[in-house]
Amino acid sequence: LADIAHPVCAGVDVVGQGRVLALATGRTDDWFDHDGQITKRPVRALTLSALAPCRGEHLWDIGAGSGSVAIEWLLAGPDLTATAIEADPARAARLMGNAARFGVDHRLRLVEDRAPEALAGLAPPEAVFIGGGLSAGLLDTLWAAMPPGARLVANAVTLESEALLAQWQADKGGDLLRIELAEAAPLGRRRGWRSAYPIMQWSVLR
Ligand code: SAH
Repeated sequence: LADIAHPVCAGVDVVGQGRVLALATGRTDDWFDHDGQITKRPVRALTLSALAPCRGEHLWDIGAGSGSVAIEWLLAGPDLTATAIEADPARAARLMGNAARFGVDHRLRLVEDRAPEALAGLAPPEAVFIGGGLSAGLLDTLWAAMPPGARLVANAVTLESEALLAQWQADKGGDLLRIELAEAAPLGRRRGWRSAYPIMQWSVLR
C-alpha cells in the first residue's frame, strides 16, 4: 500500500478499490479513519497552506486526532517528518493506522500523552500545529520550546480559545484568519447554507 503515497493521477486505480489519491492537500475526509474529530477538508487545506511545509522539515501536530494534518504534511514531500501528540489512546491507535495505510508511518512518531508535558525532549520542529489542547500553559511551554524562526499555526473554535489567541497575537504579532464556511444542505424541500462553527486561525513566526 506504499503506492498510495505515490499516486498516478491518470484515472488509474492505484489502490485496487477504484480510488485515486489526489496530489493536492485537502484530500476528502473519508481517506482518514476518524470518529468525527477531524479537521475538515477545506480547513485542513488552509491549515497546511499556513504550515507551509518545506523540504526536510519536521512538524509537531499537537492534538493530532486522526492524524490528518500530520499525514497531509508527510504527503507533501518524501523527506518530511512529523511528531503526532495525542492523549486519547483510541485516537492515537487510529492515527498510526491511517499513517500506515498511506505508507508514511515510518516518518511519523507518535507520542501518546498530554501536551504540554508531552513536548519535553522532542526533536525541535520547523512548524507546529495546535489542533487540540490549546491553553495558556501550552502556549507558554511551546513558545519556550520552539526554535526562533519556527512557524506556529493554531486553530480555535471556542470563545475561550479565541480570547487566548487574540491576546497572544496582540503580544507576538502574526496573522489572524477567520474561517467561516457553509455547505449547501437540504432545507425542507429546497436547499440552504448550513454554517460550520467559525474557526479562528493564528499563524506566527517564533
Ligand atoms: N486535527 C485533528 C483533529 C483534532 S481534534 C484531525 O484532523 O484529526 C482535537 C484532539 O486533541 C482530540 O483528539 C483530543 O484527544 C486531543 N487533545 C486535546 N487536548 C490534548 C492535550 N492536552 N494533549 C494531547 N492531545 C489533546
